[in-house]
Order: sequence, then C-alpha cells, then structure tokens
Amino acid sequence: MIPKDCFNVIETKEPTGKGKLDNIQVSVKDCICVKGMQSAGGSAILQGYKPLFNATVINKILEQGATIIGKTTQDEFGYGSFNTNVPDCFPIPKNPHDKERVCGGSSGGSAAATAQIDNHIALAESTGGSIVCPAAFCNVVGLCPTYGRVSRYGLLDYANSLDKIGPMAKSVKECATMLSIIAGNDELDSTSSKEPVEDYESYCGKDIKGMKVGVIKESLGEGVSQEVKDAFQDQIKLLKEKGAVVEVVSTPLTKKYGVATYYIIALSETSTNLAKYCGIRYGQDLPLKDTFNEYFSQVRSKFLGDEAKRRIMLGTFARMSGYRDAYYMKAAKIRTQIINEYKDLFKTYDVLISPTMPVVPPKFEDVKKLTPLENYMMDILTVGPNLAGLPHISIPMGQGLPKGLLIIADHFKEGKTLQVAHELYN
Ligand code: GLN
Repeated sequence: MIPKDCFNVIETKEPTGKGKLDNIQVSVKDCICVKGMQSAGGSAILQGYKPLFNATVINKILEQGATIIGKTTQDEFGYGSFNTNVPDCFPIPKNPHDKERVCGGSSGGSAAATAQIDNHIALAESTGGSIVCPAAFCNVVGLCPTYGRVSRYGLLDYANSLDKIGPMAKSVKECATMLSIIAGNDELDSTSSKEPVEDYESYCGKDIKGMKVGVIKESLGEGVSQEVKDAFQDQIKLLKEKGAVVEVVSTPLTKKYGVATYYIIALSETSTNLAKYCGIRYGQDLPLKDTFNEYFSQVRSKFLGDEAKRRIMLGTFARMSGYRDAYYMKAAKIRTQIINEYKDLFKTYDVLISPTMPVVPPKFEDVKKLTPLENYMMDILTVGPNLAGLPHISIPMGQGLPKGLLIIADHFKEGKTLQVAHELYN
C-alpha cells in the first residue's frame, strides 16, 4: 500500500535493466528529475514541469532493476525541517508513528514512505539536514554522503555548494547498497568527485572493536530534550559494550556559528537559484503585464510560498554590495574554520556522534507557533556536517516517539558511518 500523503505524484517507471535493485521499489524526492514525470521540487511554480531527461542517479537505479513508484513530498525547494512549507497543490505527510506529528523535513515524504512501504528505498536530498532529520523523526535510516560523492546532475538546486543526494531505507545495509549504485564521478556534474567508489556493503557486519568515537559535548547542552539525552546515553553504553573507545570532544565553533553560517550561505545561494523562475524561461506563466518587473513580481507572488519569499529577501540582502563583506564573505570564512574544526578531530577519531534532532517530532499545532528563527534553530545538530560536506548517517535510537543517532565521519569515509551504524542497528 502506497501512503498517498507522502507523494506529490504516484506513477510507475519500469526498470531498464537487471541487477542489485531487482524487485526494489524506489520513491524519488520531488526535486530529483525523472523523465516525463512531474518534478516540481515541491513548488507550485514548477507544477506541471515534466523533465525531458533523467537525473544521473535515476539512470543508475533503473539500470540496476529498480521500479520507480513516484515523487515524494517535500518542503518547497527544500526550505524547512518539518515538510509543512508546502503549497496547497501538494499534500503534507503525517508522521506514521503519530498522525498529529510532523515527519521532519525537508524530505518528509521520503522518510514517511520508507517507514510504511516494504522492499523500498527512497532517494532523498540534503542541503542542511533534510535526509537525517526526517529519518530520525520517522524511525528509519538516512545516509547523507560526502559532498560530491553522488552526482547532482538533474537535481533541482537549493544551494549548490551544499546539496547532496542520498538514500533512506529501513536498514543500514539497504542504504549501503543504494550508495554503491549511485556514487561515482559523472562528467555531467563537474563537482562530482573522482575518488574511487568503495564496496560500502562490505562495511556492514565488520566489528567496531578499538574504533575511536568522539561524543560531541555541545550536542547535549540546552535545547536538547531529556528523552533524547537519555536515549543517546544508552547508545554510548552500547558502543562501549561493542568495544569502541568513546571519548568526549568539543566543537565550539560549529555550535556557536553553525546555524547562522549555514543560513547565510544557503540563502545567498538559493536566492540566485530562484531568479530563473520568472514565468518566462522557467516556471508557470500568467498573462503578460506592461513591464517585465510587474510580470515577474506577479508570477513570483502567486506561485512562491512565504518561506521561499523570505529566503529570497534574506539571501539577496546577505550578498548585496555594502553587506556582502559583513555577511556572505564572513560566513564563507567561518565555514572554512568549521571544516578545520572537524578535520582536526578526524586526526584522532574515526567517527563523531550526537543526537540527530534535539527533540522528538513535534505536533503540527506546535510547529505553527514557531518563529522563523526558532524553526532554523531546529537544525543546530545537522548543519555542521552539511556545511563541512562530511558524510553522516542517522539511525533510530531508544523507545517511544522516534529519535535518531547521528554518526559523522571524515570526507569519503561513508564506510565508517555504515560500519558503526550497522553494529548498533540491524
Ligand atoms: N532545514 C534546512 C533548511 O531549511 C535543511 C533543508 C535541506 O537540507 N534541504 O534549509
């Protein structure tokens, strides 16, 4: 049974070959282009857009026997952490564990579908946490690879220096299988890496004796609920029982500047990306007005949601002449320092861990009360590895409402995240 509230489009695309994904159903986040299937990135402005080509990841999975079952819901263009920034023409998914609660975002449909469909893997996307956040909120596994590990060709851009495509599944092993298929250099995406692709499945089942695990101290500070902290402490115990060497580490820069840096960079980039949706070259159109400016304004105000408009204004401001040095340039410099903060720790540690989200999935009514800033602060634990382009995985932890454990590794060390994740959750 396909849960309707998780899909913007329910449509089947048959495989073109046979292989590792025979008999596997794959749902595709709405921002990933599938030839002939509406791919709107969750935005009304792209309603009716049917790409003339497949994203590279889509060709790869079809050749391996996958059957595509449709396009999953998301926050408009990926702007959100709850999958509630959604235009009227698309559904808002409900959390399969409690229908009064959100699924997380922006890949909420991917996570909720993964929790409810068997023999299924989702292709999702993360800019600042959109794979691991909904995975944690729906009790499934979500893997966000190193920036450049998977081709972005055919992905509707949110923020180009941050976007990654990655899998979600019920098990760690299935995520490893999917990564082995979609990873690799692509001449159609100049930011995709030439680093050799590993046999990721071979890491599932390797023990973790002697592995060095750093517990990020700041992730257990204020704002993290007691329920999440308790479940996290149990995971630390389990790691020790399995023979890992666990120590407390600190990432003060990421904690202090991570959210601000992420939102300045992501919004600066996305405000330029949205400029193309003007109703002439891209996006839905309306009857022409006297001037182009009037026309563009009319199209954008009708077809873009409030959060998209907010992000255009904030992002444009941050890179405007006169403000660029104070905001965008400064954020770019701090981003480098954040990368260095992680790089230093990876000289000693194999992986770093923290909770994925500071709270259990909130109720729809409580999300409505959040200010934009409170909304952005929800990403405090996930923006760090995304800014640094590091691979990270979320696995379910504890009892009761869904909670996730986040495991982060050095660039191109997806294998280590899978190794630790598989040992704790299989
Ligand atoms: N919640 C973050 C944002 O709104 C992350 C979104 C994403 O990764 N696409 O930007």
